[in-house]
Amino acid sequence: MTKEEILDILQQIKDPEIPNLSVIELGMIRDVEVNAPNAVIVRFTPTYSGCPATTLIKMEILQRLKAAGVEHIEIVEQLSPPWTTESFSPQALEKLRQAGIAPPHPHHKKGEDPPSLGIPCPYCESTDTKLLSAFGTTACKALYQCNSCGQPFDYFKCH
Ligand SMILES: [Zn+2]
Repeated sequence: MTKEEILDILQQIKDPEIPNLSVIELGMIRDVEVNAPNAVIVRFTPTYSGCPATTLIKMEILQRLKAAGVEHIEIVEQLSPPWTTESFSPQALEKLRQAGIAPPHPHHKKGEDPPSLGIPCPYCESTDTKLLSAFGTTACKALYQCNSCGQPFDYFKCH
């Protein structure tokens, strides 16, 4: 297996909480090393430590690579440097908006509560929005409502 073939397989793995983005688009795969034809090391950075999706994603990486014939797979969790919202590619940000999820706001600092007002609406881009719940459909998201178009939307707060 080549590194490109491994990356092609990983490109099919989605974060269950953001089903239209792959773990590569999310910036969760730092590197892949192919040390022998059947031995692969995947350097993996979770978006949010303690996020229940992390375990599921790691299991799927193992299953998919095993199914492709890789016998020795090591997943190394690389916590430094930590995953940040800058790990998102511009295409990934656009896909998030298409899914109705507002991407992390640059002024929202790690560990702080999500802002109560002003997160841009992914549907109409209005900033006349308000926080409804600090926990949305999953622990990694907060729920907002747009006052302009009336749509409720998720805000991705992992970073
Ligand atoms: Zn709106």
